[in-house]
Amino acid sequence: MTTSWIEEPPRRTPVIAQVDVLVAGGGPAGIAAALAAAREGARTLLVERYGYLGGMITGARVVAILGVGDGNRPIAKGITEEIRQRLAKLGGVHGVVDTEDEETAEFRRSGDYRVDAELFKWQAAEMLLEAGVRLRLHTLACDPILREGRVIGVTVESKSGREAILAAVTVDASADADLAARAGVPYDNEPHEVTLGMTVSGVDTARVEAFRREQPAAYDALIAEAKRLNGGVLPGASRRLPGLDIANAEALTRAEIIFRREAFAALLYLREHLPGWEAARIVETYPQLGVRQGRRIHGEYRLTDEDLRASRHFEDGIARLGVYFPDWGPTYRLRGLNYDIPYRCMVPKGVDGLLVAGRSVSSDYRACNTLRLIVPCFCTGQAAGVAAALAVELGCAPRAVPSGLLRQALQRQGVYLG
Ligand SMILES: Cc1cc2nc3c(=O)[nH]c(=O)nc-3n(C[C@H](O)[C@H](O)[C@H](O)COP(=O)(O)OP(=O)(O)OC[C@H]3O[C@@H](n4cnc5c(N)ncnc54)[C@H](O)[C@@H]3O)c2cc1C
Repeated sequence: MTTSWIEEPPRRTPVIAQVDVLVAGGGPAGIAAALAAAREGARTLLVERYGYLGGMITGARVVAILGVGDGNRPIAKGITEEIRQRLAKLGGVHGVVDTEDEETAEFRRSGDYRVDAELFKWQAAEMLLEAGVRLRLHTLACDPILREGRVIGVTVESKSGREAILAAVTVDASADADLAARAGVPYDNEPHEVTLGMTVSGVDTARVEAFRREQPAAYDALIAEAKRLNGGVLPGASRRLPGLDIANAEALTRAEIIFRREAFAALLYLREHLPGWEAARIVETYPQLGVRQGRRIHGEYRLTDEDLRASRHFEDGIARLGVYFPDWGPTYRLRGLNYDIPYRCMVPKGVDGLLVAGRSVSSDYRACNTLRLIVPCFCTGQAAGVAAALAVELGCAPRAVPSGLLRQALQRQGVYLG
């Protein structure tokens, strides 16, 4: 008989910090949240499970910062613009995003930009430290500490052991709503596709091209077989593995194994058979599996696809942004559609002391295709940070922060509200 559970003995956990605002997760949403909270005067601490900041930007090399514009012009300001300017001074911004896709080409004029991932890691940490944020890297946020339906802090695990951090307000910027889920906030979590990015080098493209010209049929057959081995793409191209539950470590493990096994199978096949690929190597698979969608909390408002199609605006809007990749099929028109993100999307149902920022805010599946872009994540992060600091200052629950005050403070921080 196997044992299905164990009882853990009660334990004393040292409290290593008592702060106004605790931010869990150092991706775009977490960085923005911590910066914004500290700049409003809150004692702020950020915990990040890895040794660097940036989330998908740096860990999965998602360096195209999309969602700056509304199809006609750049509109996102605030931290989106501050980071662009800061990195640009160091040569870390590589122009607007260029795309061959006709439907999205108009976004070229909208100010989307690419960043240098290594400069981003460095500068994100420096910005946080300059703002007075206390940083704790290599630290996993584990369980929310709950008292009467209110989150009063979080337990963390690291090389230092199990510790607790107490906070007046916790911002869950883990991308997967890890803390909200464990606090009992209801959520949706449909299976979605994941990507493991990788860099391939050593391909002699001139020789490949010559072979293609000389023996087109043989070339096509070799490429078709390599793609068959690797889920439909050549090694190095962006591959999507569908149907994955991001809240399941077994599924994540399987994905890591499949991506590497099949990419190497295709690579070894091409090395052996396709002239020009003899010296090809996978020089790096990126540290973080690229997850597009995971848990989305049920908040006080659920932003819907219909809201985006209708360019809907809200009194508690914390940012006005352009609609992007809404997944409406070939007929969608992007130009000029814009929307507000209501503050209520970040306020979880039924639990106090907690705000959620980043791609797991309250939305439907389709609206999340727009909300999960980096710029909206910067925006929900910035708003969560400001709201958390205001809740501390006013001595109220985050859900009771008056949206008028929140919007004024966001405007002072340079956020575009329309
Ligand atoms: C393959 C792919 C391509 C994409 N392409 C684009 C694109 O071109 N442009 C664009 O704008 N967007 C793109 N996106 C979307 C975008 O990158 C993400 O949706 C966005 O980064 C989400 O930001 P976030 O802050 O919510 O989460 P993340 O960027 O995932 O950051 C979350 C952070 O929290 C940390 N963390 C998680 N759990 C814990 C925990 N329990 N304790 C402590 N730390 C924790 C993580 O290590 C990470 O640093 C892409 C996404 C993928 C997967």
